[in-house]
Amino acid sequence: MRSRLGQRAVVIGAGIGGLSAAGALAPYFENIVVLDRDELPSVATARAGTPQDRHAHTLLGGGLQALEELFPGIMKDLADAGAVSVNVFRDLQYERPVVGVLPRRDCGVSLLTASRPLIEGVLRQRTASIENVTLRTQCRATEIVPDAMGPSVKFVEPANGAAAITADLVIDASGRGVLTLALLDALGWERPPETVVGVDIGYTTVRLPQPAATGSDWKLLYTMPDPPAGVRGGLLTPIEDGYWLATLAAYGAAEHPQTWDDFLATCRQLPTQSIYEAIRDLQPVDGLKHFVFDDSRWRHFEQLAKLPHGVLPVGDSLCRFNPVYGQGMSVAALQAKLLRDTLERVATTRDPIGALQMQFMAEVAALLQAPWGLGVNADFAFPGTRGQRPERYEEGRQFEAALFRAAVADPVVQTAFSDVVQLIKPIDLLQDPDIQRRIEACAEGAT
Ligand SMILES: Cc1cc2nc3c(=O)[nH]c(=O)nc-3n(C[C@H](O)[C@H](O)[C@H](O)COP(=O)(O)OP(=O)(O)OC[C@H]3O[C@@H](n4cnc5c(N)ncnc54)[C@H](O)[C@@H]3O)c2cc1C
Repeated sequence: MRSRLGQRAVVIGAGIGGLSAAGALAPYFENIVVLDRDELPSVATARAGTPQDRHAHTLLGGGLQALEELFPGIMKDLADAGAVSVNVFRDLQYERPVVGVLPRRDCGVSLLTASRPLIEGVLRQRTASIENVTLRTQCRATEIVPDAMGPSVKFVEPANGAAAITADLVIDASGRGVLTLALLDALGWERPPETVVGVDIGYTTVRLPQPAATGSDWKLLYTMPDPPAGVRGGLLTPIEDGYWLATLAAYGAAEHPQTWDDFLATCRQLPTQSIYEAIRDLQPVDGLKHFVFDDSRWRHFEQLAKLPHGVLPVGDSLCRFNPVYGQGMSVAALQAKLLRDTLERVATTRDPIGALQMQFMAEVAALLQAPWGLGVNADFAFPGTRGQRPERYEEGRQFEAALFRAAVADPVVQTAFSDVVQLIKPIDLLQDPDIQRRIEACAEGAT
C-alpha cells in the first residue's frame, strides 16, 4: 500500500498531459478529479478542445515506454484499437537533404502512429477505469484560487452553473497554462520568463484510403524540408482502419493548399517525389484540414523561486514543442512518469506537496532540454524563424550534419541517434567517446 499524500487532486484538462498525470497521481490521493471543458467522445472523433487532433500524431518510443509504465498493457490496448507500430528505421523512410534516405536498419525501437483521437480515447478509457479517478466533462475551469489549506478550482458546467472544488494538489494540464499564469497575477507574483521560438508552421492534412498494395516496403514516410529555401516537408502516416494521413507542413506562413489538386501540386514541390508518387492516384475521404502553429514556448516555471502551494503546470502548459518533431505527447507522458517517481520519493516528507512541486520543477528542465534543443536548433535553419538562436548554434548545426553523415555509414551511430530522438536515452549519449570517435572517423573519411 502506497502512502497517501492527500485527499484529492484535481487535474484541469483531459488531454494526453492531464490523463497521464491522473494515472501517475492515482496511487497517492484518495480521489482524482479530471475536469475538461469538452464533452469527451466515447468513440475516437475530433473535438473542439484539441484542434490539433485532425493532424498526424506519432508517439515516440520513449513516450510509449512511459505510458506503458504508468498504464501497464496500454501498448497492447493501442495495438488492439488499430494503432500501427513502426520500427525505427526499418519501417521508416526518412528522407533528409544532403544525406538522402537514412538506411532502413532495425535500430531496436518502435514508435506508434494512430489518429490523435484514438490515442487519447484509449488513454482516456484506461484512466477512467481507475477506481479513484473521476472524469468530469463539460466542466470549464475558470480560476485557481489559492488557500492555506490547499487550492480550489472554480469551474462552470452548462447544466449546474458555477461551482468550486477544493484539492490538495491542482495539476494545470489545460494546454496554455492560462489559469496558473492568472493565479500568479492575482497573487502579485512574477510570471515565469519564457523562451519563444516563432516558426509559423502551417499544417495541411488529408485522410486517404491506404492502397492494398503500396509497392513500397515502408510504413511511415517523412520527407524533410530543405532549408533555407525549401520550407515545405511532408509526412505520410498510417493510422487505424487502413487509412493514411498525408500532411504537408510549411515554415514561415507559406500558403496552404486549398484543394486536393493544390495539395498534389504542392507535394510535387517537396525535395523528393515519394509522397506524390504514393498518393497521386488516391482520393481523399474527407476535406483538407488546416492548422497554424505559431511558436514553440517554454514557460520557465522551473525558474520561479516558488509556485503557489499545491499548483503544478504540466504538458503543453509548461512547454509546447514544434509539432513537426512529434514530441509533445511523449514529453507529456515522460513528465507524468517523473511526477509518479517524485511522488514516490516525497510521500513520507513533512510537506509532501511542497516537496513534490520543488523536486518536480528541479528535474523537469533536464527532461525538456533535449527535445527542446533538438527541435529549436533545426528550426533556426529556416530564415523566418523568430527568437534567440541557441548558444553555439553554428557548432550545433555542424555537429548535426556530421552526425547524419555518420548515421548513414555506421549502424552504431544510427542506433544512438534513434535512441536520442525517440527519447529513450539521454542526449549525452551523442557525446559518448565511442560515438564521437565514430562520427569523427566518418568526417575524416569524407575529406
Ligand atoms: C498540428 C499538431 C500536430 C502535433 N503532432 C504531434 C505528434 O505527432 N506527436 C506528439 O507527441 N505531439 C504532437 N503534437 C503536440 C500534442 O498535441 C501535445 O503536445 C500533447 O497533446 C500534450 O498536450 P496537453 O495534454 O498538455 O494539452 P492539450 O492537448 O492542449 O489538452 C488540453 C486539454 O485541456 C482542456 N482544457 C483547456 N482549457 C480548459 C479549461 N479552462 N477547463 C477545462 N479543460 C480545459 C482541453 O479541452 C484539452 O482537453 C502536435 C500538436 C499540433 C498542434
